Amino acid sequence: MMKNRIIIVGRPNVGKSTLFNRIIGRRKSIVYDLPGVTRDIIESEAEWKGKRFIVADTGGIFERGGELFKSIEEEVKKNLSDAKAILFVVDAKEGLTEADRYVAKMLYPYKEKVFLVVNKVDNEKLQRQAYDFYSLGFDRVFLVSAQHGRGVDELLSAVCDLLEDEPTKLEYEGIKVSFVGRPNVGKSSLINAILGSQRVLVSPIAGTTRDAVEIPFTYSDQKFVLIDTAGIRRRTKVEYGVEFFSVGRAIKAIELSDVSCLVLDMSEGITHQDQKIGGLIERRYKACVIVGNKFDLVKTDKNSALEYVKRQLSFLDYAPVVFTSALKGVGINELLHAVVLAYQDYTKEHKTSFINRAVQKVMGEKPPPVYKGKEVKVYYAFQEGTKPPTVVIITNYPEGWKESYKRFFVRKLREHLRIRHSPIKLIIRGRE
Ligand code: GDP
Ligand code: GDP
Repeated sequence: MMKNRIIIVGRPNVGKSTLFNRIIGRRKSIVYDLPGVTRDIIESEAEWKGKRFIVADTGGIFERGGELFKSIEEEVKKNLSDAKAILFVVDAKEGLTEADRYVAKMLYPYKEKVFLVVNKVDNEKLQRQAYDFYSLGFDRVFLVSAQHGRGVDELLSAVCDLLEDEPTKLEYEGIKVSFVGRPNVGKSSLINAILGSQRVLVSPIAGTTRDAVEIPFTYSDQKFVLIDTAGIRRRTKVEYGVEFFSVGRAIKAIELSDVSCLVLDMSEGITHQDQKIGGLIERRYKACVIVGNKFDLVKTDKNSALEYVKRQLSFLDYAPVVFTSALKGVGINELLHAVVLAYQDYTKEHKTSFINRAVQKVMGEKPPPVYKGKEVKVYYAFQEGTKPPTVVIITNYPEGWKESYKRFFVRKLREHLRIRHSPIKLIIRGRE
């Protein structure tokens, strides 16, 4: 359990959600509006200058008055007393309201850990409007603009002084899956289609590491963790410009995941950039699912489309191919099944005897070419690990194993080991 909890409270529309997103560092808009995710309280893990904490946005809790509010009062109080810091957000543009006073009253018992955040102070001129709020009687007052990031550093530095050191990282269980691809191929739409699918259960608690947002979900009893380095925002009201393609962000997503879904826009066809992104996955030995999206716009049949994809991305021959329409919610189940299939092979483990038999079979079909006039032999082989399955070959001449032969060898080995949907990493060693 994380000890450091920061809770954001305030009446509606003061900018809580904007501040929340600013703190957890989400940038791009993947909008989802789902039961379970858009609950009263949304949490996320975040980090600031080496301090790790959970930040919770109480969202619409204070929208409810009277009776309804009574029923959750206990829960709210527990949240307030558990928190290491309370960010009480008010709106400088609107000025002090009755609803603010109501929230303030509720917070007085926790006064020593309340930070009064006067938001929407976008420029110097607006500062004067903020002074009214001092009358609420809180000692810590910060003038910020959550939207522009003004004053947020100072606020968080002060908040962090109240936090404890948290050395360990939260880990979610499940297949780590990410979606990479060029801008506009439909990554966000696919993620929304998955998280919005009736058969998918989304955990209300998303996590954030320095590099990515992690959203745990379950489908057919299988746990997944969606790795999203582009960032997720809920309830977005701000328009963003066209996203540029960030290789660094794609690489991060690939490295953090077990299975990377390479998303293609089938209405446009496969471009050089798609192949390059595919190469990023292949070079990191990650399992992969090729997702031919926008298939609703395509006139050709599935078989010819499949042939086309296989031809253009032949180096990803281990990746299952699925065709989807994120727009119409078609192919989502197939996509998740393919992810599971790829993951099963990615984590497959075989006995040494089985590995050796497979290796001998390949050697029997076609051994490495003669090296410096000598026959290249395999003494023995074994599996060193999974993710991906890693096979070690002990040989008399490691230098005799050329790249082109290794590629052939791995392809054959995958056949014999029945690891159709995962890359195999081959390690060639001499005898010590
Ligand atoms: P919440 O209901 O408290 O979560 O409020 P939101 O975060 O949804 O923000 C409400 C509105 O205020 C949105 O239109 C935001 O774009 C806007 N807003 C948030 N922060 C700022 C700010 O610092 N300056 C200005 N001018 N508008 C802001
Ligand atoms: P991203 O940049 O890869 O995240 O792409 P988006 O999810 O933002 O989608 C880009 C555009 O393609 C949007 O206008 C989507 O509505 C549209 N789009 C996404 N998936 C599909 C699809 O399956 N079919 C069609 N026709 N349009 C789609």
